[in-house]
Amino acid sequence: GFPAPPSRPPRRRRVSRQIMVGSVPVGGDAPVSVQSMTTTVTADIDATLQQIAELTASGCQIVRVAVPSQDDADALPVIVRKSRIPVIADIHFQPRYVFAAIEAGCAAVRVNPGNIKRFDDKVAEIAKAASEHGVPIRIGVNAGSLDPRLLERHGKATAEALVESALWECSLFEEHGFRDLKISVKHHDPIVMIEAYRRLAARCDYPLHLGVTEAGPLMQGTVKSAVAFGVLLAEGIGDTIRVSLSAPPAEEVKVGIGILESLGLRERGLEIVSCPSCGRAQVDVYTLAEQAQAALAGLDLPLRVAVMGCVVNGPGEAREADLGVASGNGKGQIFVKGEIVATVPESRIVETLVEEALRIAAERGLT
Ligand code: SF4
Repeated sequence: GFPAPPSRPPRRRRVSRQIMVGSVPVGGDAPVSVQSMTTTVTADIDATLQQIAELTASGCQIVRVAVPSQDDADALPVIVRKSRIPVIADIHFQPRYVFAAIEAGCAAVRVNPGNIKRFDDKVAEIAKAASEHGVPIRIGVNAGSLDPRLLERHGKATAEALVESALWECSLFEEHGFRDLKISVKHHDPIVMIEAYRRLAARCDYPLHLGVTEAGPLMQGTVKSAVAFGVLLAEGIGDTIRVSLSAPPAEEVKVGIGILESLGLRERGLEIVSCPSCGRAQVDVYTLAEQAQAALAGLDLPLRVAVMGCVVNGPGEAREADLGVASGNGKGQIFVKGEIVATVPESRIVETLVEEALRIAAERGLT
């Protein structure tokens, strides 16, 4: 007979240079990292550090802060010192804040050359300061603020225009022997964005920061980012990701981690496999799944937990899970690896799942 196809085709990752963003390697064989950006006024040091702490707790590995004013630049040394994850300064209009950020010890600086006046003249100085401090630079090209010269040539922010802009800026740094660069070419349309990153990936070996810009509110932004990153990461393109949402930044991190987990690029933490519910359901599956998620998430265990609405398909569907429940007649049958280990009243389903999860974790030496 025919050999069974592999369950997951081998994924060839694009070979990129590795840079260090503080303690986090980006590119090369480093795991794809998840980053986000604070929404606080950076100069409000307490609020910014509070949000960075929340992001860190949610799994964010690199954080970016906006630096639109001198007060923000002045806040950087304290923020950098107190943050537990590397801090990137995001600079749009003022080259002098680039130097301030480098001096402040930021792990990297993001510049948007299209937005920095006479950027080309400043590159020599920026490259010198950055290399003296071992600070990489992200060239962050954005469809909404493309270099006017390229906008004129291409008529609009096409994939090719974004790529040309990024590679042109890189070439300015290369002229000064500076290659600690990473690049993003963001567009709000996933189709253009995917095309831009594909072209960029083929034409340079810099690590790539994936992002769909202005992706939208939670639901729309999640879908756009998951589709765009999914396509690219499955092709081996992308070294660090930032999901942009019009929602609290910790949500961006959760979505980013979920995308990497879904692609097998990161070991899963808790995964709730819940049925969509149907006319056979004998409990409120949505509520039960949410309660189970809430109760188990805090345990921070790599478990797959099935929540099934009925006993017709429940046990079968739950067999692949570490643990599960199939509900019926006001009771829940609790399964471990598809075998019933307990039958409990509905009110005790969630606590029994937690007990069993802890038992499994103890058996596997996870606690
Ligand atoms: Fe319907 Fe039961 Fe399947 Fe849930 S497990 S979708 S309730 S048949």
